[in-house]
Amino acid sequence: MSLESARQLQARFARGEVSAQEILAAAFERIDAADDRVGAFLTVMRQPAEARAQELDRRRAAGEDCGVLAGVPVAIKDNLCTQEARTTCASRMLADFTPPYDATVVRRLAEAGAVIVGKTNLDEFAMGSSTENSALGRTCNPWDLERVPGGSSGGSAAAVAAGMVPIALGSDTGGSIRQPAALCGVVGLKPTYGAVSRYGLVAFASSLDQVGPLTRSVEDAARVLNVISGPDPQDATSLPQAPVIPDRLEGSVRSLRVGVIAQLDTDGVDPETRAAVRQAADWFASHGASVERISLPAIDHGIAAYYLIATAEASANLARYDGVRYGWRADRPDLLGMYRQTRDQGFGPEVKRRIMLGTYALSAGYYEACYQKGQLVRSRLRQDFQAAFERFDVLLSPTSPQTAFALGEKVDDPLAMYLADVATVAANLVGIPAISLPCGFDSRGLPIGLQLQGPALSEARLLEAALAFEQAHDLAGRVPPVIAGQARA
Ligand code: GLN
Repeated sequence: MSLESARQLQARFARGEVSAQEILAAAFERIDAADDRVGAFLTVMRQPAEARAQELDRRRAAGEDCGVLAGVPVAIKDNLCTQEARTTCASRMLADFTPPYDATVVRRLAEAGAVIVGKTNLDEFAMGSSTENSALGRTCNPWDLERVPGGSSGGSAAAVAAGMVPIALGSDTGGSIRQPAALCGVVGLKPTYGAVSRYGLVAFASSLDQVGPLTRSVEDAARVLNVISGPDPQDATSLPQAPVIPDRLEGSVRSLRVGVIAQLDTDGVDPETRAAVRQAADWFASHGASVERISLPAIDHGIAAYYLIATAEASANLARYDGVRYGWRADRPDLLGMYRQTRDQGFGPEVKRRIMLGTYALSAGYYEACYQKGQLVRSRLRQDFQAAFERFDVLLSPTSPQTAFALGEKVDDPLAMYLADVATVAANLVGIPAISLPCGFDSRGLPIGLQLQGPALSEARLLEAALAFEQAHDLAGRVPPVIAGQARA
């Protein structure tokens, strides 16, 4: 059962071939068998999940329609609020914090019949590209346990890749859904800014954050997007209209206009990744799409702009962790000393680095040179992409310049870590949707991710193109060693 898609599981549940409790038991069996090695979960929600599965079985027996995700086990990145489990952001600051409410996306999944099985590891407050910035645990890549799963949604990507759940939610501020999806060989979708409610997502950088699915198939990503997207009165930035995804995607690329981003097809990209992405472009060309190179010069400044804007917003968003209102508090008799020690010991080094960077970028005298410059690049990027979308329906590139790197390889070099996001940050700065899907393997057997980006609210077209590619390549048939070594449930 462990490698079935959400769609298959829901269909079998609806037909009465399998119970929600059996599906859940299989998911827990996989988690128990592999998670001591993979480390995808920070919290496994055994009791609430079992109660939920029982209720679904009861409702189905009574002839009720239980929803499009009925009985499907789902994992949630631990920066999304859940009433029934602590929400830690992988930070010491929130290690014991249980929110009084569910995030809108969590509620919508539950209403569609999904069974939430646990909360997944991430870089502290979603800041990082390897999940190594977690203060609460280590996550390994199911394809090679010595390597990172990517980040910051590394736990969600690893849980899906290892067959523990068919669906997980992540958040993407600069690539945190797509890059771990690429490194773990799964599908990751970052929706249009505002397409999915962020009510109950712990804020990192509010003009960039989006919630989205990680799945093993494109169809599952479409299904989850349909469930979680749409306006939410509790999120003022949610769009009045959800992206429209047809019930049945055809998987066609005929007359699709594909632009290959020149700035992401250079020596800076690992040669095997570059070759796989070129092959993907050739596949589109030989299946009825028109394929051309396009130069987007502002992309070269994307990382610099992102790390000014994201840190500036983070410095404001993280001001609320002061030992008074939320989470952990240092035991000090004086108020200032309490603030200071709480923030010094509650946050890890990367979070503190970003708060300092962001505070600096916003401070008088540096604001024009830093923050405003970042915003200027952001408008240039927007113009570049707008012009590109007059000629192209989708823009193609690698998701990550390299496949999964070794644990520890970049932890002491923040700049090298930041460069892992070179292909992903633009979509967040511009606010457009982007999908990462597997497009091959390197000579070490590590998955390579292909990224497709499109104009705002063009999710349906991205999913169509991704589905066509997926159907022609059957990469899902290859499974990580952490699964292959064991009998399938
Ligand atoms: N890796 C990027 C960062 O460290 C993106 C993080 C994210 O998307 N949450 O900021």
